[in-house]
Amino acid sequence: MKGTFPVKQFERIETPFYYYDTALLRKTLDTIRHEAAKHEGFCVHYAVKANANPKLLRIIREAGLGADCVSGGEIEASLRAGFPAQQIVYAGVGKSDWEINLGLDNDIFCFNVESEAELEVINELAAQRGKTAQVALRINPNVGAHTHANITTGLAENKFGIAMQDMASVILRTQALPNVSLVGLHFHIGSQILDMGDFKSLCNRINDLQDELERHRVNIANINVGGGLGIDYQHPNRLPIPDFKSYFDTYARHLKLRPHQTLHFELGRAVVAQCGSLITRTLYIKQGTAKQFAIVDAGMTDLIRPALYQAYHKIENLSSEEPKETYDVVGPICESSDVFAKQIDLNRCHRGDLIAIRSAGAYGEIMASQYNCRRLPKGYTSEDL
Ligand SMILES: *Cc1c(COP(=O)(O)O)cnc(C)c1O
Repeated sequence: MKGTFPVKQFERIETPFYYYDTALLRKTLDTIRHEAAKHEGFCVHYAVKANANPKLLRIIREAGLGADCVSGGEIEASLRAGFPAQQIVYAGVGKSDWEINLGLDNDIFCFNVESEAELEVINELAAQRGKTAQVALRINPNVGAHTHANITTGLAENKFGIAMQDMASVILRTQALPNVSLVGLHFHIGSQILDMGDFKSLCNRINDLQDELERHRVNIANINVGGGLGIDYQHPNRLPIPDFKSYFDTYARHLKLRPHQTLHFELGRAVVAQCGSLITRTLYIKQGTAKQFAIVDAGMTDLIRPALYQAYHKIENLSSEEPKETYDVVGPICESSDVFAKQIDLNRCHRGDLIAIRSAGAYGEIMASQYNCRRLPKGYTSEDL
């Protein structure tokens, strides 16, 4: 089965471009809201780095999610889209002074602090403004996620977060600094995680850390478990909405929240990936000796995931119902890694056929570059067409 796309309208638009099915996005957000609301104290943020398209940000904000930012630019984009500053959290291993000041000036909810050195700087900049910054410490839980090596973040020696054995001393330091206030602990173990056992491991680790805090009589109002829920790249039509029920139920069952604690989530990919497709046109069919290439007008500059992570994206020919043939689907960029898929079956391709590269709503448009002096792809929603 193919997805249903407004192919007639696509014919009028210059390719390549991103297409976002906002009906699916809204349905996904409804599911998130519905499943999270079953559990007391659950609070969901959207990880803006997955896709900062202003039209999508507005829809996500209207659904009531908070924003999880990893740069000053993302804080600005979130504020522009109408996210209340008090629902913005800001993580990142290397926050520049102007970025910290931006957060302070807007009174964002919380800085997720990734090192003691950063804590000192936030304290100093907050002091200059006569403010107290709310901080959560990002603890590296040393939990391995069963996903691609480039997108695990929770293992012991890692640029992200504070090592567990340093937690107690950094908490003491936080308590000693006058212009920061400890409001939470933050975790994030990786991305595209489909094994609920990984999230369960994180819960167990957090339970141990909370016991330790209790022994030291440290009260924490917020636990933030980051994001990471994966999607089904193989079956975007059959499973367009991720299994949020299992995800939230896993945390409800295994994480021992203390009374009055709020549990924060930062979901990126799971919110937006399935609603987006990269639409491209076949330029040429090139016959090789043992294979044939479908050369399309989108490249790794538009969607870098296959080149960067060897990521799989389902590809469909929207213009042909002819019998399937086997193709390597490649872009025009002067790099051998500019390949979307090898040896896949597509309905017989011709010059001019529209091709959909599916599940591209997350880490697609936002990672686009102008390498080779290419134009950035535009993003259209189903409501624009
Ligand atoms: C990337 C990131 C997320 C979102 O990850 P997804 O896998 O897209 O859900 C959440 N929190 C932090 C700190 C991140 O760096």
